[in-house]
Amino acid sequence: MNTVVPVSFEFFPPKTDAGYEKLLKAHEELKVANPEFFSVTYGAGGSTQERTINTVIELNQRGVSAAPHLSCIGSDRATIKALLEKYRDAGITRIVALRGDLPSGMRGTGGDFNHASDLVAYVRETFGDAFTIEVAAYPEMHPQAQNLDKDIDFFVAKAKAGADSAITQYFYNVNAYKHFVDEVRKRGCDIPIVPGIMPITNFSALSRFSEACGADIPRWMHQALQTCGDDVQRIQSIGLNFVVDLCKDLIQAGAPKLHFYSMNQSAPTLAILEQLGKD
Ligand code: FAD
Repeated sequence: MNTVVPVSFEFFPPKTDAGYEKLLKAHEELKVANPEFFSVTYGAGGSTQERTINTVIELNQRGVSAAPHLSCIGSDRATIKALLEKYRDAGITRIVALRGDLPSGMRGTGGDFNHASDLVAYVRETFGDAFTIEVAAYPEMHPQAQNLDKDIDFFVAKAKAGADSAITQYFYNVNAYKHFVDEVRKRGCDIPIVPGIMPITNFSALSRFSEACGADIPRWMHQALQTCGDDVQRIQSIGLNFVVDLCKDLIQAGAPKLHFYSMNQSAPTLAILEQLGKD
């Protein structure tokens, strides 16, 4: 499959053997789109962290580069260094560097890093150019930021600490992306800012998740999806049209690549790419 722009896909580490089989199947099916890389998210707990490490190393051996997400909050330098050495020795060349969130109830950072920019600087200092470093961006503002302007200032500082590229939180407002990119460029930062695309498959899950991560579902979209009630097929069909239009508008606006929150499934992402390829 030829895609209109380069793509990458995001997975989460599965908790069960069945989930792992499902992930491997989706991985195989998504390879048809020649992705630049697959990334695997990283949780707060010890066992989920182990699952990320094992999953990413295995995927990296299956023909397409795989990138672990790596959050630093609550960690010390020695732990991060050991983990990065393990990745480097396993042939991993790209990471998604994040602050992450402390489990609720925990106070302070309790570690050597306060922000993702500290991690980016540390990786560059310690590992030189061994890793391509991706960072997170929030066109609709990080939920804990004081205001959008400050959030963009901190984003630019994080990029200048040594990031190569950024992946955004998902969003459905193209103008938020355009504004964010314009403001970043005005501040003299030119790293690629790759939109994160969330396929719409389950409206109630999307609403809950959007609430938590500060992503806005525009009122007209919300109304259209809500009208579908429990008709999953209709939600998926309307959702597909919304997301295809979003991707087209983003490419038109200059988005250099697309990163899909594929959530260990191939069909919703492939449906979007097939529609995009028809133009
Ligand atoms: P930062 O860039 O450190 O920003 C966090 C907040 O601190 C922002 O409000 C920012 O404005 C502020 N800030 C930054 N620098 C400073 C400074 N110097 N002084 C004061 N304030 C500052 N979470 C996971 O746990 N696991 C994952 O795998 C994961 N993957 C993600 C992938 C993507 C593409 C995205 C967009 C998010 C992901 N997240 C993940 C969520 C992320 O960890 C949270 O959003 C977290 O709250 C912030 O991480 P960050 O790297 O953006 O932090």
